[in-house]
Amino acid sequence: MFASVIIDQDTKALDKVFDYRVPDKIEIQNGDRVLVSFGARMMQGFVVELKEKTDYDEKKIKNIVAKMDEQPIIKPEMLQLMKFMCEEFHLRLTSVLKLFIPSEIREGKIKELFVKWGKLSKSFSAEQIKNAKSQKKAVEALQNKARIKIVDLKKEFGQSAVKALIEKGIIEIEMERCLRKPFSSQQEDKKIILNELQKRAVESVGEKGVYLLHGVTGSGKTEVYMNLIARVLEKGQNAIMLVPEISLTPQVMANFKSRFGDNVAVLHSSLSAGERFDEWKRLFFGEARVVVGARSAIFAPLDKVGIIIIDEQHEQSYISESNPRYDTFEIAKFRAEYNNCPLVVGSATPSVDIYEQAKHGDVNLIEIPTRANGKELPKIQIVDMMNELRVGNSGIFSSQLLSDLANVINEKKQAMIFINRRGFSSFMMCRECGYVAKCEACDVNLVYHREDNRLKCHYCGKQYRALDRCPNCGSDKIKQGAVGTERVVSELKEIFPNVKILRMDNDTTSRKNGHEKILSEFRESKPAILVGTQMIAKGHDFEDVVLVGIIDADQSLYRGDYRSTERCFQLITQVSGRAGRSQSEGKVVLQTYSPRHYVYKFAANYDYKGFFKKEENLRKTALFPPFSKIIRILFAHPDENVVRDELKMCYNKLLKVREKYFDEIIYMDAMKSPVKKIKNSFRYQIVIRLLLKNSREIENEIFKCTDDNLKSSVFFEVNPESMS
Ligand code: ADP
Ligand code: ZN
Ligand code: ZN
Repeated sequence: MFASVIIDQDTKALDKVFDYRVPDKIEIQNGDRVLVSFGARMMQGFVVELKEKTDYDEKKIKNIVAKMDEQPIIKPEMLQLMKFMCEEFHLRLTSVLKLFIPSEIREGKIKELFVKWGKLSKSFSAEQIKNAKSQKKAVEALQNKARIKIVDLKKEFGQSAVKALIEKGIIEIEMERCLRKPFSSQQEDKKIILNELQKRAVESVGEKGVYLLHGVTGSGKTEVYMNLIARVLEKGQNAIMLVPEISLTPQVMANFKSRFGDNVAVLHSSLSAGERFDEWKRLFFGEARVVVGARSAIFAPLDKVGIIIIDEQHEQSYISESNPRYDTFEIAKFRAEYNNCPLVVGSATPSVDIYEQAKHGDVNLIEIPTRANGKELPKIQIVDMMNELRVGNSGIFSSQLLSDLANVINEKKQAMIFINRRGFSSFMMCRECGYVAKCEACDVNLVYHREDNRLKCHYCGKQYRALDRCPNCGSDKIKQGAVGTERVVSELKEIFPNVKILRMDNDTTSRKNGHEKILSEFRESKPAILVGTQMIAKGHDFEDVVLVGIIDADQSLYRGDYRSTERCFQLITQVSGRAGRSQSEGKVVLQTYSPRHYVYKFAANYDYKGFFKKEENLRKTALFPPFSKIIRILFAHPDENVVRDELKMCYNKLLKVREKYFDEIIYMDAMKSPVKKIKNSFRYQIVIRLLLKNSREIENEIFKCTDDNLKSSVFFEVNPESMS
């Protein structure tokens, strides 16, 4: 018998399976973690296939040295998923591997899933030891204590002594799963009775298939999810629940803990490696049956999955943008199909892409158009900042926002001020007439790059001079860049000196539990204003927030990306959803220099369907996804000549593919990436846009052109979130 083994090291050279012989005395299963000799070293590997024959020279094949755990670490479903991911996202097996195995047991960290305890055998007699000194001492130690960890025994009395004692049967081994007790919830479970719409939503989810739960903010989607999960647990199955970034939504977490207790395992980025490993083990052994976590929780080692839920489906964080790059939704679909269970994705602002799928019936649509508490969605007032300029106000805040803030403070309520900051790029805009520079060739907005003072198109690489005068009206009032949270806070403090003003952004939340501290301080202060970035847009449920101010709505609108408008609509809806969630009525003040842009009209009316229709039409015309596919192949290497040569080589091969599919590949070019250099690596890219017909086949051919043994790191992305 032979075993195909992947070696646990993420390098290109080791990205193959290596064959080893399975010795008779070792029983090997698929997914087992094994020790093998590799070159001059001992390495850890994972068995991905067992077979009777090997293509290699049988005489040269080495034996597997040892099996490392009692049971396979990678379960059969996960083995299949690994293969699927390699094909679907063009990834290396070795880099996919690290998603499935906690870092605590990878790359030679030979941690065991069990603690081995040693205790003295009852039938032990002193004669068996004779004169072995260290053995004697070890036995004495065990006579004084009921049991001692084998590792500690070995440390104190030596490997060979302990080994001899075990072989002679003097020390017996007791295995114990090393699990930490999960923290329990302090919160009482809210007893909530589902309303009719929620009930219908729960009932609409069938035995399998993909469901889109489109419910306005505050419609009680969490409650729907929890009921769906309870139903699954009753059947003896398990559940996966994904949220965008769990440290941002401690409330969701607390809700799940109080409803499902110790059945819940949490996986998110601010856990230590050890804590993650503990939670992973609880899932692996079936001691936790619900996993709640950010995108990587989709790899949770749960059996018998009965439902997978993805909350805030539209969130970018579900796309992994660093290696290995993958789309969580596709993986969820795979697992749902494998387990024959439903996949439910929910959002108040579904992505255009998934709504298009719902339109064609590939995804089942479930709608909750009203808030659970029956309250209206907050009124959104659009404030024209150009007008403010005309009447002499060139500050950050409109007079409307200032007077509304003053009211909130008088009534001892709370407000949130949202500032949109994402990425390191920004746009240029005329503050007189609202002109924004666009690429002539691509019909997307240009992005301003401060390093070289140029405007760049992220889709074709074309560069333009930065504006100093508006080409439309001649004004020199050119606006560029956004205001930061710090400045907003300091100005607010001057205007409202006696009011609690809190700031939440990357800087203030870098420490562990940073988010929670700020959020709970905000919760307890009245009146108070919370100023923040994207972080405050999500899921928070504060009863006394009656006003939301959006400082610079345009910032997401002109991001130089075909999805900019969609992102802008999502942000406004999400941020607005934070206001007026309980008794008091809510209001939103939205400041913009482009008040007539269609996105604001639809957003102000919470008209998702209207927005979708308009957006769908525009993308159909301009041939952007979901009506085409954009492929970006990114090359990176510290030596610029290397990247350039390898890029050229690929490009030449790609020209043949283009010839073959001339009607379907509507755009293809090679260029420097808009951000030329990251961490001392030069970045070049090939961008291809193709029609959907045969796109899978073309995609594979394109991929093959990059599949050489290149020195550069090559990243292959379909419809990338960012082109920089
Ligand atoms: P969403 O995720 O759809 O924005 P949430 O799940 O956060 O909405 O629910 C909003 C609020 O409504 C929460 O405070 C929740 O406890 C409450 N809620 C949900 N369902 C009901 C219900 N059936 N009756 C009363 N309150 C509810
Ligand atoms: Zn102008
Ligand atoms: Zn362009």
